[in-house]
Amino acid sequence: MPCRKKPLCVFGPVDSRRLGRSLGINLVPFKTCSMNCIYCECGETTFLTAERKEFFPAEEVLGELAKVLEERKLSFGEDFGLDFVTFSGLGEPTLHSRFGEILRRIREEYPMLKTCLLTNASLFSDPVVRKEAAQAHLVIPSLDGSDEEEFCKINRPEKSVTFQKVLEGITSFRRETEGLVKMFLEVFLVPGINDSPSSAERFRCLAEKIRPDAVQLNFLDRPGAVSGLAPVPEETLERFSSVISPSCPVEIPGRKKRDPGTNFAEVEFSLLNLLRKNGPCDAEKISADLLLPGPEIQRHLGMLCSAGFARTGRKGQALFYVLTDAGAKFLREKEGSC
Ligand code: SF4
Repeated sequence: MPCRKKPLCVFGPVDSRRLGRSLGINLVPFKTCSMNCIYCECGETTFLTAERKEFFPAEEVLGELAKVLEERKLSFGEDFGLDFVTFSGLGEPTLHSRFGEILRRIREEYPMLKTCLLTNASLFSDPVVRKEAAQAHLVIPSLDGSDEEEFCKINRPEKSVTFQKVLEGITSFRRETEGLVKMFLEVFLVPGINDSPSSAERFRCLAEKIRPDAVQLNFLDRPGAVSGLAPVPEETLERFSSVISPSCPVEIPGRKKRDPGTNFAEVEFSLLNLLRKNGPCDAEKISADLLLPGPEIQRHLGMLCSAGFARTGRKGQALFYVLTDAGAKFLREKEGSC
């Protein structure tokens, strides 16, 4: 069985609910982050740090990207069939000490590509990091707590990272880049922590202070790092939207995802097809066949299992995944409609 010694820095593309067809760039090893968010789809942070480092050599990241883009150009032409190149992945991208240089070189070498940074903004109190991030076309910082208490409960940050620092960092970034860089503020709502009416009002005040292009409300749709978390109900999203929208536009990009199957990404179809073709497979084989990192594959498998299109089984110690009848029917219907 093929085995990947080093994680891939470039992954996808995936059909992102917010960014269209997005090619991902991961700059840190699993799972390196300045936060350990309870909802994190990658699981628990194993290396909690706020120290910047060249985790993967910048030249290797750019080399991997060049190879992927070269192949895509043959099939898709000048725009590579992509809407965005997105810095995200298995931890916080700005922790990479040459993140700014990598971003700059992508913009110089591929001026036709749009770039996006998904960040927890933990390092935005540093003007150097803000300057680096300002090279992206679109920046989506997260602010999940409306105060220090909610922030600590949800994001479980490294000790030097505080709510005030993150808030001031995002506010400064917006002040410095308004009109130059598009910015959405992401708020992840967690039942029982930041979903009260007083939280909604505090978020409205924060949105008024930060003035992003829009607030994007996010919610759990795949298993998080902590078990037992539930998505907030639709009514909560509506309530938050109506409280915040007088001060700032509000978007709920993931809402359609609640209809299983209607918003599956290409990778999920590939995964179902692979299970149909090969029968039961373990996650390692799937990861090797689809050339995607293990945690990414686990996320898609989790989604397919919760939609009832795949299920797990065990053979001795080994955990494998199987296509269900509902998954096979879904594939047939999908193929019939194409
Ligand atoms: S900041 Fe992002 S990568 Fe880090 S733990 Fe939170 S959700 Fe996961």
